[in-house]
Amino acid sequence: MAITSCPACSKPISDKVKTCPHCNLAFGDSSAEDIQRKLSHQRYQKLHQLQNQSMLAILIFIVGAYFVFMGDYENNEKGILMYNIALGVTTLGFIWYAINRVRITLAKRK
Ligand SMILES: [Zn+2]
Repeated sequence: MAITSCPACSKPISDKVKTCPHCNLAFGDSSAEDIQRKLSHQRYQKLHQLQNQSMLAILIFIVGAYFVFMGDYENNEKGILMYNIALGVTTLGFIWYAINRVRITLAKRK
């Protein structure tokens, strides 16, 4: 048994394993070309997924911001609570979007 490194995550693995225990990349009997194709496909899917999440985050942000600025809240406990919820949703959408931007940048750099 020899130790080699996974072409996807670069972690040390045995050359006898069929799938990488770290990132689940399947090797099987596939050629280096197959592995490359699988990798670029995985990468594409991951980027696509991150972009979808970004869109969702923007949507959440817009909906939250709409309720923060357009909502007509009464100055009582319920109104304040609703305002705070809208504000929280807006903040959450913004933070999620920022995190996704960083993740997309990192994923593209690889
Ligand atoms: Zn791996």
